[in-house]
Amino acid sequence: MDLKISIKTRIWLLGLLFLGSLLLVFGLQYQLSGKELTSHRTMLDQLAQAERMARLVHEVQKERGLSSAFLADAGGNARKEMSAQRIATDFRLSQVDSAQEPALLPGLGAMREKVDQTAVEERESFDFYTLSLNGIFEQMDRLSLAANGHPAQHDLIALVHLVRAKEYLGQARATVLAMPGKGRPDPAWHAAMGSRFGLFEAGIQRFLKESSPSMRATLTGALGEPAMQSSMRLLRAARDGRAIDPISMPRTRWYGIVTEAINLLREVERYSLIELIDQTQAIHDKVRAEILLQRGGLLLISVLLTWLAISSLLLLMRAFESVLRGARRAAGKQEWERGVKGMRDEPIDIAQSFNQLLDMVDSLNIKASTDALTGALNRHGFHELAGGELQRALRYHRKLSMIIADVDHFKRINDSHGHAVGDRVLIELACLIRDNMRGTDIFARWGGEEFIILTPETSAEEAARLAEKLRLLFETFHAKDLPRFTVSFGVAEFAKGDNLETLFAKADQALYLAKDTGRNRVETFTRTDAKSGPRPSSRNIRVVSDRSRA
Ligand code: GH3
Ligand code: MG
Ligand code: MG
Repeated sequence: MDLKISIKTRIWLLGLLFLGSLLLVFGLQYQLSGKELTSHRTMLDQLAQAERMARLVHEVQKERGLSSAFLADAGGNARKEMSAQRIATDFRLSQVDSAQEPALLPGLGAMREKVDQTAVEERESFDFYTLSLNGIFEQMDRLSLAANGHPAQHDLIALVHLVRAKEYLGQARATVLAMPGKGRPDPAWHAAMGSRFGLFEAGIQRFLKESSPSMRATLTGALGEPAMQSSMRLLRAARDGRAIDPISMPRTRWYGIVTEAINLLREVERYSLIELIDQTQAIHDKVRAEILLQRGGLLLISVLLTWLAISSLLLLMRAFESVLRGARRAAGKQEWERGVKGMRDEPIDIAQSFNQLLDMVDSLNIKASTDALTGALNRHGFHELAGGELQRALRYHRKLSMIIADVDHFKRINDSHGHAVGDRVLIELACLIRDNMRGTDIFARWGGEEFIILTPETSAEEAARLAEKLRLLFETFHAKDLPRFTVSFGVAEFAKGDNLETLFAKADQALYLAKDTGRNRVETFTRTDAKSGPRPSSRNIRVVSDRSRA
């Protein structure tokens, strides 16, 4: 499928798609981690509800006691105290979530009316409240079961056991009041005490089994308190059927001691609940902070990464464009347009453009080393190739010669036929030389009407033969509209100790001789020539460093 989308658009699309998928991943992660948070939040709600229920239990227990007291003796402040307690109970009841099913404390109003009119037995009233309390405990059980799998679930279960244990202790305390007199053993009383104390102990054991070490430590501390100790001693004795001396331990005193124990348990219950709520809140807050930090950090890093990737790619694109622009300037408008015709920022176009650019560079290189008129190498091109040949000749002791060709009286040709004709002569001359030299020979226009041929693997003698052949060719050359012309040649052979300059000087000296001795001649440099010194009209032969004139 060939979608015509530019690279820049693709880069942007890539970034957007990446960010989109990231958001998707974060959304999923949010749902997952959201579950954990929700479980903590639900647990917090349940703990708060448990706390409200525990308070309600306390108030109902008090109302039960005061109702019993009122029914036993309606005199004094009993009615007033009972009425005040009912307000407190109603308040706590209203605090407990009203959506609780089944409704808590059903039939409370009717029972209160009966109590008011003392139309009910104390026993019946007590049992009503006790039953109502059982209803609340069951609700609390449901609450702790609903906290399924939460780390604080067992602590909540333990707490409900504690609330129950406290209730059984309360029932045991109520039993104290019915203690038989001295010398009147009552097995039924002992049995009632035994069953209530047994339930209390079982509740405590369950608490110790379910609760966490810190909650267990709190209760163990309370159990070690003197009031708790003496309370337990008395109740254990009653359970075991041992009579308690009503003189040394009157009922009211005993009642007071157990009340203290109940209050201690109530403290443990309250403290543990608060601690549990605090702990759960802390975990909740920690998890929330972690999630926020993690997700925020990851999102930030991802956005940064995406930005980095996109901006780097765009930067690369921009750098690339600027390279192409630079090349365009260097190549000149026309060359460029020929080279990068139809270029867009698509990969294939770019690759093609680059290849064209490289071709352009190649052609520029060729231009830089070629003489525009004759197509022969220019000085620069000659120098690039000749150096290697000299090195080779020197290193492998190979023969190497140089021929310099100079048109005779070229000035005259220009003068009498015009410069354009002179140019054509030069073009023909270059063609003839190229056609007659070897492929390995290096041929260059040295300047004006002067040419140079470097002939590898060739002695002076062989080079002179080539020069002679060429000389004859020119002498007999005849082309339409072109004047006849002759050429003089100077030949020299590369010798040990020579460089391009000295070799050129030798060939030039030979050329001078050819000119001097009548032109249209080939002269070869010999040792004796060297002794005669440089020719008077010595020209610029600084080959090696003279690149500026190329
Ligand atoms: P000689 O036989 O001593 O070599 O005499 P000559 O006239 O050939 O030598 P000279 O160096 O005096 O003159 C060379 C002339 O070549 C001078 C210059 O105007 C001409 N010339 C140099 N380059 C070009 C060119 O590219 N085209 C044309 N038509 N003439 C050129
Ligand atoms: Mg000349
Ligand atoms: Mg000349």
